[in-house]
Amino acid sequence: MVQYRKETREEASFRDKLTTIDDKGKRVWVYAKKPRGRLTRFRILVAIFLLALFFTGPFLKINGEPLLLLNFMERKFVVLGVQFWPQDFHLFFLAMISMMVFIILFTVVYGRVFCGWACPQTIFMEMIYRRIEWLIEGNPRQQKQLSQQPWSAVRIMKKILKHGIFYLIAFVICNFFLSYIIGIEQLKEIVTDAPRDHLAGLAGMIVFSGVFYFVFAFLREQVCAMVCPYGRLQGVLLDRNSIVVAYDHKRGEPKGTYFKGENRKAAEKGDCINCTQCVQVCPTGIDIRNGTQLECIHCTACIDACYSMMKAVNQPTGLIRYASERSIAEGSSVKFNMRAIAYSAVLAVLLGVIVYAMVARKAVEVTVLRAPGTLYQEQPDNRISNLYHIKLINKTSTDLPVTLQLLSGSGEIKVIGDKLLAKARAVSEGVFFIYLDRSQVPGDKTPVELGIYSGDQ
Ligand code: SF4
Ligand code: SF4
Repeated sequence: MVQYRKETREEASFRDKLTTIDDKGKRVWVYAKKPRGRLTRFRILVAIFLLALFFTGPFLKINGEPLLLLNFMERKFVVLGVQFWPQDFHLFFLAMISMMVFIILFTVVYGRVFCGWACPQTIFMEMIYRRIEWLIEGNPRQQKQLSQQPWSAVRIMKKILKHGIFYLIAFVICNFFLSYIIGIEQLKEIVTDAPRDHLAGLAGMIVFSGVFYFVFAFLREQVCAMVCPYGRLQGVLLDRNSIVVAYDHKRGEPKGTYFKGENRKAAEKGDCINCTQCVQVCPTGIDIRNGTQLECIHCTACIDACYSMMKAVNQPTGLIRYASERSIAEGSSVKFNMRAIAYSAVLAVLLGVIVYAMVARKAVEVTVLRAPGTLYQEQPDNRISNLYHIKLINKTSTDLPVTLQLLSGSGEIKVIGDKLLAKARAVSEGVFFIYLDRSQVPGDKTPVELGIYSGDQ
């Protein structure tokens, strides 16, 4: 029987309010310490990769198409160089459903990994904005002092510098976001044109950048705790088997100050030396030793902080680590139980379905219908003709000349007007006649087989 830790009413009282809001409802500002360690280094590498992808993405092309384009105004969508049309809505729908199930299953098994490692809010905040803040205003103690001192020339200068850079970065990031919506070519045009030609757009961009700046300069961790719906869902997504950033209370408790050379067991102290380093580095201001909390974004800063403290006092590392509540209660390592394996299998299948649906998607779609309101025609050379309307949707970036062939019976096809051409990224239309010998039209309905070719395809 696994014994889970039961919080007393008093111990659980921290859950009654957010750590960053005081009893009077005022904001408690978080001055987070710079984390250092192995996981932080990994996170920096991942962040560099993702930021590089974000900033180079608009310039990258696959088969002449952008990597990602979500132009809602013109209803043009490109993902990994593949163009999606409103006709592909079923794929979009499938991808959305799969993505939602994916997120739920992923979180149930692996916790909030996405928030700590790949969420744009965390990456921009922890890897760009907070680092600039450390650079200009110094460590948390110096930051606090600066905010509490009267408005001196130094304080004004530092604040103007910091907020100026913050806004500039917000403006640049917003422009890059815009390039994913309207395309980099159009953005280049707007940027190089005289501002008076795009006053409305420029005003929108300034306001949008202001919102972005406000989020990173002031709102910060409140986004993760109060605004983000994914964060709010953690309470129903996580369970005792989910892998989370967790404090090993069995090993750590009871906390006790460290004295060199002491026998902690004899002193009835756990491994936690109560140094509060894990709290000081936390960007959301929580104490992970209280247990899994809504505010925890799994940034792993506390894991690194505790790791170095354990090393410093010659204790086994991993007092805070990736673990499930069950594994900590059992004193075992994280096990992949049947549920985790089954969920992972479903995740793999879902990914497969999305990839298959995208790969198997047709690049050209054709619809042929009888021209409305027309009857068949009797030709003088003893032939019967019918008028048809053809609609070609070409999702590729090249024009495709199209030819029609009658594959059944002996007859003839005559295209009216110009030759058929499926224009790149467009819907093209045409009209054609099919002529059949009267002897081949025995009744009201005669099936014919039509070949629609571009080159030999
Ligand atoms: S508790 Fe640890 S993992 Fe969670 S947000 Fe704070 S530092 Fe990051
Ligand atoms: S860093 Fe580790 S040892 Fe220090 S207070 Fe946190 S859990 Fe305890």
